[in-house]
Amino acid sequence: MRGRRLVTTVGARVATIVVCTGTAMGLADGLRKHGFQKWYRKELTRSHLGLLLLVLSAVGVLASAELVGRDMPMSNRLGALVLMIVCGGISLWSVRRYLYLMMRAEHVASQAICPVCKTYGRLALERDDPQQESLQVSCRNCRHLWRISDPGDG
Ligand SMILES: [Zn+2]
Repeated sequence: MRGRRLVTTVGARVATIVVCTGTAMGLADGLRKHGFQKWYRKELTRSHLGLLLLVLSAVGVLASAELVGRDMPMSNRLGALVLMIVCGGISLWSVRRYLYLMMRAEHVASQAICPVCKTYGRLALERDDPQQESLQVSCRNCRHLWRISDPGDG
């Protein structure tokens, strides 16, 4: 029953990473709590957890596909089939999540350069208007104000 133990182990890891990856932090909250650079690092970490989740769920798909093909009672094979479908769904979700988080972090990072003094990533949140899709930020170096757009939490 090595296959089943592998599926259980992979399942537990997948569940942990789904929780860590699924909770993207809003840009305004992130800037307020951590500052831009820490927020950016956290978002990149989340996106790479999505990539790890993709690998683990793909292992789950392969392991459960092997169980489906074995000579076992029908109920066990059906269980493995359900697991395979679930892992396939998680794979699709995680690849989407990985790409989304990565592109969002890069989109925000590309606007984190002060237009006046060209300092990168040293910005403070000035105004967070939930009605608008952009945030007003200021440069910690020269106090210049500008807006950065955030595609949101998806
Ligand atoms: Zn500046």
